[in-house]
Amino acid sequence: QGSWQGMNITVAGLGVSGLSAARALAGLGASVTVVDGGDSAAHRDKAALLEGEGLSVRLGDAETLPEGTELVVTSPGWKPSSPLFAAAAAAGVDVVGDVEIAWRLRGPNAAPWLAITGTNGKTTTTQMLASILEAAGLRTAAVGNIGTPIVDVVLQGDDAYDVFAVELSSYQLHWAPSLRAHSGAVLNLAPDHLDWHGSMEAYAADKGRIYEGNQVACVYNVADKATEDLVVEADVEEGCRAIGFTLGTPGPSELGVVDGILVDRAFVENRQKSAQELAEISDVNPPAPHNIANALAAAALARAFGVEPQAVRDGLRNFTPDAHRIAHVADVDEVAYIDDSKATNTHAAQASLASYESIVWIAGGLAKGATFDELVAGAAKRLRGVVLIGADRGLIREALERHAPEVPVVDLDRTDTGAMSAAVQEAARLARPGDTVLMAPACASMDMFTNYNKRGEAFAEAVRALGATSV
Ligand code: ADP
Repeated sequence: QGSWQGMNITVAGLGVSGLSAARALAGLGASVTVVDGGDSAAHRDKAALLEGEGLSVRLGDAETLPEGTELVVTSPGWKPSSPLFAAAAAAGVDVVGDVEIAWRLRGPNAAPWLAITGTNGKTTTTQMLASILEAAGLRTAAVGNIGTPIVDVVLQGDDAYDVFAVELSSYQLHWAPSLRAHSGAVLNLAPDHLDWHGSMEAYAADKGRIYEGNQVACVYNVADKATEDLVVEADVEEGCRAIGFTLGTPGPSELGVVDGILVDRAFVENRQKSAQELAEISDVNPPAPHNIANALAAAALARAFGVEPQAVRDGLRNFTPDAHRIAHVADVDEVAYIDDSKATNTHAAQASLASYESIVWIAGGLAKGATFDELVAGAAKRLRGVVLIGADRGLIREALERHAPEVPVVDLDRTDTGAMSAAVQEAARLARPGDTVLMAPACASMDMFTNYNKRGEAFAEAVRALGATSV
């Protein structure tokens, strides 16, 4: 850690991870300058705070590299094509993210990392894994793209934890070249964030970095061949195994499901047995197919770390999902209202649309370069009706015209925050007893809301208002 002393480091962005990295590095003796393109009152308040702590801040210029910079630390929002990084490359200066800093800060006895990435299910799976590890009596934390900034957690020292459950975004993997996890999992791969990565190939390659240097297991999704291909391409430690998870009957070296039981055929201690029973489907909350896949992936990583079957079951039973992930808000007039605001891309929305039969779907927002034909074609026969909101709703409407022309569509033509309440009322009008009103927008929320939490809260509030007025 002595190598940070006096080092000239430029941190890109005044966000949460940027600030945590900046403070940690300054605390280790580095000479830190935080740069940010913004120059609002809020920026200046933050800058004043940091300057009071002895850091330098440069506002209003996100493009030029400060003189003498030896290392650039990025924040997730900054695209690889940002001019600052081009300037760094031209000057021969490395660019890394907060995960790379955390990895380099680890001491010689540091806790191993069990790492998780994928287009969808990362947070859920990471939390399930942490719950399993806790049930096994291990000292652990869910970190990375979740919870306390990873740099802060690592700085608590080598003795504080036995193992980490690490959620990694494709951005973080992109900027973490020396990361070597104990074991890693890619849950699934579908187009997302292509505007950031530039192409599907680049996105997949960044996700695949999670397997590089794995020691014990590379966990992949049997139903998603692209994840297995990434294992084949990875350079791993000798003895590291490829472990698949499947919703079907598992082959050797796989975890899967047999007669409603989650079973493990990959890590079987007792040679008399061909499979180890882990848990029942009903132990998984909620027991929807995509979530059983998440549970199997978490179980695979835990088993790779030597966790007993009993702890897998207890950990899954103890787990409750975060808000806005297929959360049942209320039943009003025999219609169920489900908040899946976290379905911010088509792949996630596909999973939740597949979980219900007769659906009034509330959708729309920022498409992030996605197309909707596959999603709409796959869901068409389950749709009672659709209510569209948000900036890119036209893309969904066109897909509906192509693949589900008979489904009634209400295009609210609104992007204001109040549109959610109107959408819920329209959905209530379309719904029949026994239907599900599903807010799974398949889009990001930032055209209308600060984030997906706020979108989910607006939905829940509108549902409660509906309940109060219904008779
Ligand atoms: P992430 O952290 O990757 O964004 P989350 O665990 O927060 O993932 O789940 C995001 C949304 O993705 C959920 O609301 C759900 O609709 C959907 N989802 C969760 N797991 C899966 C999966 N394995 N496959 C497809 N969709 C999923």
